[in-house]
Amino acid sequence: MARTPVLAGNWKMFKTVQQTVQFFDEFKHLVAGAAGREIVLCPPFPALAAASEAVRGTSIQIGAQNLHWEAEGAFTGEVSAGMLLGCGCSHVIIGHSERRQYFGETDATVAKRVDAALAAGLTPIVCVGETLEEREASRTEDVLATQFSGGLGHLSSESFGKILIAYEPVWAIGTGKTATPEMAGDAHAFLRAKAAETFGAEAAAGVRILYGGSVKPNNVKGLMEREDIDGGLVGGASLDPESFAAIVRFDS
Ligand code: PEP
Repeated sequence: MARTPVLAGNWKMFKTVQQTVQFFDEFKHLVAGAAGREIVLCPPFPALAAASEAVRGTSIQIGAQNLHWEAEGAFTGEVSAGMLLGCGCSHVIIGHSERRQYFGETDATVAKRVDAALAAGLTPIVCVGETLEEREASRTEDVLATQFSGGLGHLSSESFGKILIAYEPVWAIGTGKTATPEMAGDAHAFLRAKAAETFGAEAAAGVRILYGGSVKPNNVKGLMEREDIDGGLVGGASLDPESFAAIVRFDS
């Protein structure tokens, strides 16, 4: 099954509204005409509305980096799916390792956020990945299986068909150490097999699994050549318009 590549940028806690507008002024020209791929940028909350406005009339899509599962309420500092929709978002990152590590995100809360995003019509980009300690203890597949089952195992096959998965080995995020295409390809193949076991062959063949962890213009092509790698979730290299445009144009 042909799967359209997705190149998504996670800006983390970088860029003001003004810097966001400047980025898109440049970036949208650099990727004009890059067909056959989806482009998603995930700025911090305060810049979402400006980002949506800046990409109006292009095919670039905007995502958030987190959401709460309740529609509204006394949850200081949180934002809901409906609020993200109101800012023009189509996507939302869920369960990023920084959320798991610093903000107590668990597979159970990932599952709730995924449900809330899907109910609102947002596309969740669900992150999974092992730490260095876990990889060195040969526990990568156990960890991926647990995160997959805990965060996604409750979905129907139809709902599973609407999500994106990001395999992000924690030791590769922001460290400059990319997983080799072989390592990443093996993890993606494992996740696809897990999807087949849980949701059936058709759902597994259709789900897009992005790789994240120090993706740069000079290593994206090798990663994208792997059968099971359907795109990238890019942190640092998505902050610069030229470098993210080069990643988006990985095959040219
Ligand atoms: C990320 O934040 O999801 C990420 C992969 O970061 P980086 O590309 O900087 O490693």
